[in-house]
Amino acid sequence: MKRIEEADRIKNLPRYLFAEIDRKKKELISKGVDIISLGIGDPDMPTPDFIVRRIQKALSKPENHRYPDYEGSSFLRRAVAKYYERRFGHSIDPDKEVLITIGSKEAIFHFPYAFLNPGDYAIIPDPGYPVYAISTNMIGGRVYRAPLLKENRFLIDFDKIPESVSKKAKIIFINYPNNPTGAVADERFYKRLVNYARKYGLLIASDFAYSEINFRDEKTPSMFDYDKNKEFSVEFHSLSKPFNMTGYRIGFVVSNPFVIDVLKRLKTNMDSGAPTFIQEGAEEGLLKGERAIKRIVDVYRKRRDLVVKSLDRVGISYNYPEGTFYVWAEVPVGYTSISFVQRLMEKTGVIVTPGNGFGEYGEGYFRISTTISDRRLSEAMKRIEGFLS
Ligand code: PLP
Repeated sequence: MKRIEEADRIKNLPRYLFAEIDRKKKELISKGVDIISLGIGDPDMPTPDFIVRRIQKALSKPENHRYPDYEGSSFLRRAVAKYYERRFGHSIDPDKEVLITIGSKEAIFHFPYAFLNPGDYAIIPDPGYPVYAISTNMIGGRVYRAPLLKENRFLIDFDKIPESVSKKAKIIFINYPNNPTGAVADERFYKRLVNYARKYGLLIASDFAYSEINFRDEKTPSMFDYDKNKEFSVEFHSLSKPFNMTGYRIGFVVSNPFVIDVLKRLKTNMDSGAPTFIQEGAEEGLLKGERAIKRIVDVYRKRRDLVVKSLDRVGISYNYPEGTFYVWAEVPVGYTSISFVQRLMEKTGVIVTPGNGFGEYGEGYFRISTTISDRRLSEAMKRIEGFLS
């Protein structure tokens, strides 16, 4: 009988880098070790009450039990426009320039499907969120990994991208505030990015999942501060991080009417939109969430301070995070990312993420996620200090 095999695009998915770490973790748990995971970026705090209450009410309305609008309900698209006006000072058309998505991962994954042909390049940051490269590879696109280096403050250096790549590229992904490095970008970077995209006719896909998790006084800049007519920029937003809503799966995309229409054409053929009762919660957050965001960011700021002080005490170098809830730190001399993470786990029960999981330029680093209670974070850092001193 013919043996059924998975499709090549599945066969070619990268091997699970953390398999060995997972195996060790299970072994340690079975021995009764108290594991503290600083691995995954999944907020520990609950969704703000006012959002939960709105969703509970929305769930009891029978009209919300039916298929949602594919592109997102009009009320939420209008709330997005109001949020943009208030937060970034940009006016957007809620009917033509917004698409509601099932979290931002869905939207980011499908973006190359909508715009790349096989052989076209997507330029992606390395280290970076793995979805950009995986999606590009899956559709036969080519990935150019633009290194985010310490000496460039973890910003892409456009001068280093080969001309041959730039000419065949259609998309450049950026992500500031940045996972995993915690870096933010400055005006000079955005201006250079826009010049680069204009010169080569690229779409700028700005992953804005952490736009609200910004520790600086200035607001996070929007691509539309620099690309005022929305000629070639696309912003991918998520409600997951600013409102502790990772479990709800809700996000949105803002771009020009052409890009939104293309994404809509793909999306209507693929899924049936985000649940309407969740969209009601998202509306509540976007319209009334300013104070809640501030409270949440204050918690992450304190946790960041706790972590960097602790790393200072044991002489570990790190990139001082200006945003996100991660700390990107260098492994001590003599270790690789994986060997350090394994040793740390064996000796202390603390799990951090090896930097090479985010790409080859992540080698030599590890990432600490502060999405864990203050008490457990402080316990984890004590153990790390003990291990390193
Ligand atoms: N982009 C980045 C950089 C992320 O770190 C994540 C989640 O960790 C996402 C996008 C996806 O978030 P969500 O799908 O929950 O909106």
